[in-house]
Amino acid sequence: AKRKGVSKIKCFTSNLQTQLERHLYLEKGLRHALEHDQFELVLQPQWRLEDQGLTGFEALLRWHAGADGMISPFEFIPVAEKTGLIVPVGEWVVSKVCEYLREWKQHGVSDCRIALNVSPLQLKSGKFVEALESMAVAHGVALDQIEVEVTEESLLDGVEEHGRVSNELVRLRELGVKIAIDDFGTGYSSLRYLRQFPADIVKIDKSFVSEGSVALKESEICTAIVTMARSLGMEVIAEGIETTEQLSSLREIGCSLGQGYLVSMPLSFEEASDCVLQGRTD
Ligand code: C2E
Ligand code: CA
Ligand code: CA
Ligand code: CA
Repeated sequence: AKRKGVSKIKCFTSNLQTQLERHLYLEKGLRHALEHDQFELVLQPQWRLEDQGLTGFEALLRWHAGADGMISPFEFIPVAEKTGLIVPVGEWVVSKVCEYLREWKQHGVSDCRIALNVSPLQLKSGKFVEALESMAVAHGVALDQIEVEVTEESLLDGVEEHGRVSNELVRLRELGVKIAIDDFGTGYSSLRYLRQFPADIVKIDKSFVSEGSVALKESEICTAIVTMARSLGMEVIAEGIETTEQLSSLREIGCSLGQGYLVSMPLSFEEASDCVLQGRTD
């Protein structure tokens, strides 16, 4: 029994060591990625459920780590947050979004929105709003073409913290930036809380959508979210739509916008540009 205990401890410490090594490795890699242009910002189409017409895109970060291949944002975003690197990484994301929008504007399209994911730490740094505003102005991009996604969870992360995040979101909104609450339904926010909160869009988390028309409970949650958002004058977008069954049940409950593999995977800027410029009306 004693021996077993010892080997368990050994196993535990070596696990910790492996985790620590991976963390340090990723931290170093992230600095390198920033300096050597290893990031790519891909764009996943968002569309009307009614006719699948394009309304905008969600920007998603990709890291092409050379010989290590692709590293998932699920792995590197938490490291970027812990090390503070999320601030320069996030600024790179904003500058890319502005570049993309400027490029489309030069081709006569200025009504397509891009949503970007923002970590609460970026907002708490206190510099995000100015950085975004000055980059948009420098690129001649209208601020109402930019949407900021913050997770429901991040908004509930401590009362004082929430105050700071919420203040920054109010400032963004005053500039005309749209605010979307991401992964909605996975946190524990109350209706009352949502009413006080400055948001324009609610994103139904894909964990509810993936059950779709199959599980009654999930569809009841979706219905409640849609009803509530509508009564507050918010738009609703469902993420992770993969099947036509999910599409039609979301339409039935009155959800108007969607995103997911059914219509499109995230696209490179070139591919997304083809979509945007094709749909151009002038
Ligand atoms: P998220 O914001 O919830 O993004 C949605 C994720 O679902 C994306 O994963 C997307 O590629 C994936 N997805 C899209 N359509 C479907 C579908 O039909 N089915 C399924 N199963 N999945 C779908 P991705 O790109 O790996 O991003 C993972 C997470 O990393 C994001 O979750 C977001 O929290 C974070 N992230 C990505 N880019 C950024 C960024 O620029 N900044 C920050 N702070 N976080 C980011
Ligand atoms: Ca998102
Ligand atoms: Ca999401
Ligand atoms: Ca998520």
